[in-house]
Amino acid sequence: MHTHSTASDGSDTPGQLVEKAAKKGLRAIALTDHDTLGGLGEAQAAAKDLNIDFVRGCEVSTSTEHGSIHILGLWLPENSEILENFLAHLLERRNERNMRMLDKLRAEGIELSVEELSEEAKGSIGRPHMAKALVKKGYVRDLGEAFGKYLGINGSAYVPKVAPRPEQACKLLSDLGATVVMAHPLLRPVPDGWIEQMITGLAHNGLCALEVYHSEQDRAKMERLASLANKENLAISGGSDYHGRFKNGLKMGCAYGGMPIPESIYDGLLEQRRQKGLPV
Ligand code: AMP
Ligand code: ZN
Ligand code: FE
Ligand code: FE
Repeated sequence: MHTHSTASDGSDTPGQLVEKAAKKGLRAIALTDHDTLGGLGEAQAAAKDLNIDFVRGCEVSTSTEHGSIHILGLWLPENSEILENFLAHLLERRNERNMRMLDKLRAEGIELSVEELSEEAKGSIGRPHMAKALVKKGYVRDLGEAFGKYLGINGSAYVPKVAPRPEQACKLLSDLGATVVMAHPLLRPVPDGWIEQMITGLAHNGLCALEVYHSEQDRAKMERLASLANKENLAISGGSDYHGRFKNGLKMGCAYGGMPIPESIYDGLLEQRRQKGLPV
């Protein structure tokens, strides 16, 4: 329920992604590119051919006093002008931020042009594309070093995203009938009790589920999240956050440590939609 294609910062085309999922024998796949719906048409067509369930999704970055929270919208409607406008606005902010990060790199003697980034990206451009270009041009050895030195939250070229509040994104997606999921809630450290409070607040703004299963959340984190979901009456979601070559070592359909994400997760999300009277 969480993957990226060449429409944002994944290395597989939407079609290839769905093909991989079908080859792996997955029952369903959601495409959740950052701030764009650009890959959904191609993926949807491929899924139809390959007889695998396809879920139209996207991943929206939101901003809080303690850093970014990522919100997934699943089962997005087709032809929603509200959604298209919202995402178009986010893409503009993203491109402005990219320019500011390139300026900061340039101030350190690192020349990266927008054209070079566009070579890496077919859709929405992000930090993984910058990382790839930095490796290609020999400024760093690998993606890890690129994020550590320059692009990560403590890197010298980091610029925070100007993004909507999580409440706003949850409300907008929920009003459109999407299943609203908080992605990888425990990926980054935040003050004690803060994420719990955030989840309680968002549960009143349309949040439907927590991403309990994720490639970078270990068993202890999963257990903590599962009990939080239970307490707030939220469903449990799961996704690899597969990015292909832009994030090495992740397996599609699998969570932390290569654990396959159980099919019951998908059934649970479907059941929640049926109970709410939403289309599946
Ligand atoms: P952006 O949307 O441009 O901020 O880029 C976000 C993407 O960068 C996410 O998909 C992350 O997987 C990736 N990312 C963020 N921090 C790191 C890191 N320290 N190492 C590798 N990838 C990262
Ligand atoms: Zn990404
Ligand atoms: Fe994310
Ligand atoms: Fe993601």
